Amino acid sequence: MSSTSQPLAQTKSAVLHRDLHRQTLEIVEAQGSYFTLSNGRRILDASGGAAVSCIGHGNLQVQKAIADQVVQVDYTVSLFFTNKPAEQLCRMMIDSTAGSMARVFIANSGSEATDAAAKLARQYFLELDPPQPQRIRFIARNGSYHGNTLGALSISGHKARRAIYEPMLLPNISHVSACNAYRGLAPDETDESYVERLADELDNEFQRVGPDTVCAFVAEPIVGAALGCVPASLGYLKAMRKICDKYGALLMLDEVMCGMGRTGTTHAWQQEDVVPDIQTVGKTLGGGYLPIAGVLASNKVIDVLDKGTGQFVHGQTYQAHPTVCAAALEVQRIIAADDLLANVKLMGEYLERALRNKLGDHPHVGNIRGRGLFWGLEFVYDRQAKEPFPVTLGLALAIHDEALAHEPGIMIYPGTGSADGLQGDHVILAPAYNVTKVEIDMIVQALGNAIDS
Ligand code: PLP
Repeated sequence: MSSTSQPLAQTKSAVLHRDLHRQTLEIVEAQGSYFTLSNGRRILDASGGAAVSCIGHGNLQVQKAIADQVVQVDYTVSLFFTNKPAEQLCRMMIDSTAGSMARVFIANSGSEATDAAAKLARQYFLELDPPQPQRIRFIARNGSYHGNTLGALSISGHKARRAIYEPMLLPNISHVSACNAYRGLAPDETDESYVERLADELDNEFQRVGPDTVCAFVAEPIVGAALGCVPASLGYLKAMRKICDKYGALLMLDEVMCGMGRTGTTHAWQQEDVVPDIQTVGKTLGGGYLPIAGVLASNKVIDVLDKGTGQFVHGQTYQAHPTVCAAALEVQRIIAADDLLANVKLMGEYLERALRNKLGDHPHVGNIRGRGLFWGLEFVYDRQAKEPFPVTLGLALAIHDEALAHEPGIMIYPGTGSADGLQGDHVILAPAYNVTKVEIDMIVQALGNAIDS
């Protein structure tokens, strides 16, 4: 810790959780872009927690929407009843896809959304005419994260998070290379030939496992937590779509971290000239006010279900919870009413410029990448050789600690280089969609200080 930084106030926790500080820090207040720790220190939230808080903390309109809904209808069991906020929220999400998606399943978390999406893909093939019950496999990618339930973790290609559970993960899932130009592009290779090479790899994987046994190919348009905001190369998703179509498999895009406006359009795929068959969202859907995620099902999928059972044969006690949906609906209404996606684009460009100006030549910042208000910095020991620091050093966590401890303190989201064992540690910046230039200047200055420390 540097001489200018202050010790982090820590308390012992009764809550069983993964605690990267080893002793839990307590947040006692959260307002706008800031939260306050129990020692009185104010922290600028530069990552929206885990890329979640998209309109800032403590919004009075959302608080009122939650309170009103609790008074009106707090809970309904969705096996038998629907409710107004859920209907309005799902309609709003469908409308945001300009008619590409037909219906939405509302889950409680991104992990559960991944599980539900996988089950939906399976159900689609069972109800197809004629049915294809042999489709039981998924192909996903190395260095991906789709969640922590055993199903979602099985789909994830995150080595470190899978490690101790490996023997109990689902068997019919395989992984191909991530699309990560910084690490994957061969010398003298163009983006185009890189994409072609990855498409060949996916094609070969279909062939290897049996093309008619695959339910879906699963990918994040911009890899979030596993690799640190790595956007797919131009044309990549289109090429993957083509292979899925060739073999009759579904394209399942995970936008839990990069979706719902984070990259400047409501859905990241809207910048790629590609439409998924099934899509997951989470995090910024509810902006952190209450836990919520979703699975968007395309017309293609819903047409088949409508001719079959007419329903999704999967459910959970709290799905489409009215109070939770009311909160998310209000968050989405605020994003639309305040035209916050315009600010995401504008401030995203400002953030990119500021990061490149301040850290573009830093000897240990190997790569700055991202889109909208979703940026990652990957750290390397040697820029030329792109050699990562040893994972055991815990560099990203150390930078996160420094960023919290400095004055002004900022919250950034750290990630270790252990997702696929190839890349360096990284940190993610994902500020609220209403972030200001002044706040971005503070974030970039504080991040620079933390890295130098
Ligand atoms: N998918 C992606 C891309 C994620 O980044 C995450 C969480 O970070 C998940 C799924 C899982 O979401 P949750 O933690 O809400 O279960």
